[in-house]
Amino acid sequence: MALEVAFIGVSSAYPGDGEESTCFLVNGDILVDVGFNAGISVQALGVAPTDIDHIFITHCHHDHVIGLPGVLFLNSKRAAADREAGPLHLYGPQDLTPVTSAALAFLQADRYPQVVPEHEIHHVYPDESIEIGDLRVDVGRAFHPLDARSYRFTDTVTRGSVVITGDTAYHEGLAEFAKDCDVLIHEAAAPPTASGINQRYLHSRPQDAARVAQESSTSSLALVHYQTDQAAAMLSRAKEGFPNTRVARKGQRVKILGPGQAAWV
Ligand SMILES: [Zn+2]
Ligand SMILES: [Zn+2]
Repeated sequence: MALEVAFIGVSSAYPGDGEESTCFLVNGDILVDVGFNAGISVQALGVAPTDIDHIFITHCHHDHVIGLPGVLFLNSKRAAADREAGPLHLYGPQDLTPVTSAALAFLQADRYPQVVPEHEIHHVYPDESIEIGDLRVDVGRAFHPLDARSYRFTDTVTRGSVVITGDTAYHEGLAEFAKDCDVLIHEAAAPPTASGINQRYLHSRPQDAARVAQESSTSSLALVHYQTDQAAAMLSRAKEGFPNTRVARKGQRVKILGPGQAAWV
C-alpha cells in the first residue's frame, strides 16, 4: 500500500465557514492533530471515526487539539465496530496528558465511561521512532513557544516519506529532519510580508518553508495552516525560493508510490 496523506483541514487557528483547522489523516487510520470538527470532517474523506487507531499531536495549542473530545466520543464505538480493535493510541509531547484529562472531564467520563474509547497515551521525544505496521514514524523538533514536535512518516516497503512540520519557526535542524523526503508539508502561518521571525508566535513565512524545502532537497512542498485570503501571495512568495510548491486544499490527498513519486488527487 502506498503512503497516503489526506488533508482534513488546512486553515489557520480561526477557520471560517466550511473550513477546518490544519490536521491530516495518514493511511486512513492515523490522525495528525485534531482540528475543530475533525471527527465529522474525516467522514467527508470516507473514513469512519472508529477507523482512527492512532492520533499524533504536534503540540497542544488549541487549534491542534480542540476537536479531541468529539473524536474520543465518536471513537468510543471502536470496540463495537471491530472486536479486535484494541486501544486508541495517542502520541505527543507531555502536554498531551493534561489535555486528554481535560477532554475526559469535559465528556464526564467518570459518569459516562462508555463515551470514551479504551486508550493509551505515549509521550514521544525528538530522535525517537515508532513502528506501526510497515510505517515508521520519526519524531523531530519544532521551534514554537511550547513543547512541539514534527513527524516524519516513512513507508518501510516503498521508502516513500512525508514530513509534517507542525507549527514551527525556521530552525536549522528541520531541513536535516526533512532530508530527501518526498513531500514536505510545512506550516506557513506567518504572512509573507513579515520582516523576520516573530519571537512571540514562532511561525514560518512561506519563504521560510521554501528555504527548508530547498535545504532538505525535498521533492515537493505543500503549504498548510494559512488564511485563505493569503493563499495567492503565499504561493508566489514560496515559489521564488522553491518552484515545486503548492498550497494544499481541504479534502486533497497525496499518494507517495515511492521515492520522488507523489500523485495528488
Ligand atoms: Zn501552535
Ligand atoms: Zn496552529
